[in-house]
Amino acid sequence: MLKAMTATLQLSQLIRPGVLRTPAYPFEPAEVPVKLDQNESPYDFPPELKQIALERLAALPWNRYPDLHADQLRAAIARREGWDPAGVVVTAGSNALIAHLVALLRAGSTVLTVRPNFSLYALDATLLEAELREVPLEPDFSLPFQQLRAELRGSPGLLILTQPHAPTGFLDRPEQVALLIEEASGWITVLDEAYCEFSASDYRSLVAGHPDRVLLRTFSKAWGLAGLRLGYALTAPSTAEQLQKLVPAFNVNALTAAAAGVALEYPEYLTRRVQEATRERERVYNALRHHRSWTVYPSSANFLLVRTPDAAAAVAGLQRAGIRVRRQDRDPMLAGCIRISVGSPAENDTLIAAVSRL
Ligand SMILES: *Cc1c(COP(=O)(O)O)cnc(C)c1O
Repeated sequence: MLKAMTATLQLSQLIRPGVLRTPAYPFEPAEVPVKLDQNESPYDFPPELKQIALERLAALPWNRYPDLHADQLRAAIARREGWDPAGVVVTAGSNALIAHLVALLRAGSTVLTVRPNFSLYALDATLLEAELREVPLEPDFSLPFQQLRAELRGSPGLLILTQPHAPTGFLDRPEQVALLIEEASGWITVLDEAYCEFSASDYRSLVAGHPDRVLLRTFSKAWGLAGLRLGYALTAPSTAEQLQKLVPAFNVNALTAAAAGVALEYPEYLTRRVQEATRERERVYNALRHHRSWTVYPSSANFLLVRTPDAAAAVAGLQRAGIRVRRQDRDPMLAGCIRISVGSPAENDTLIAAVSRL
């Protein structure tokens, strides 16, 4: 017993302090009939495409390593995005790219972002012992330009912006974002576009040709392939070359590469689903707007942020109706807030009915 305790103590002296300080990723899985807590697609990959993917998986030699840097997949992504394949970096989810981008910086560099934000930015900054600076959003959830500008005059590092923003769903005006990024010279700017397909937002032209700018996209949300784990960065080849060194070799497995390749060959399903999700988002928004004590915010993503008198009570109330949503009330600016993913029309009907009883 004492021996085990001493060993744990010694171990904690060996481990990087940032790791010891970092909380585990906050998530509790739950089995519920209506799962609206992770901004996933409500639909599995179309069965006919799954069949094609399964046939390709069966034909692959599973004993062989995949492409070192998933070259075929990178080429397919580059074709779709109109990008130089040498500027595409793929990883098992774009989560991994956030950590790699923080690790790309010199030790102790600044990671500048807004708050509230996607929790991984802060987790990775803490983990890797970067200097985390989080500027509060404006009360309407738009970017705090004056304060960010002031921070940009400080010691440089990584500027991370999320468009549309998570968890608010707010989309800033592109001219404003462009102005801000112009001012971030000497910094690396990361634009996380995990939800861009659900809006008309597209920052490719702002990033193209700038080695100090990186765009992050994912197959987890609009593409509905969260289970495959695939995300990518679009940047200049010179930046991709450095970033690639941080990505473990053979990082995207052969099964994911093959299945995602099918999605990229037959992308028509994406358009239909995005159309449904945005239509359903507006329908749920309009239904929730009439609640007597809840405030729902407009969203450009596949989720809605809702302010309630008590987030824990709201989550528990929906849980009793078999609906799982996510608390978002950790940040004082989001007191009482929960986040609800847009589901299928039937799931959204269940949600709307349950909310009307709360
Ligand atoms: C979901 C999400 C991601 C992508 O996560 P994956 O690792 O690609 O599944 C990135 N950024 C934000 C803001 C997200 O919500």
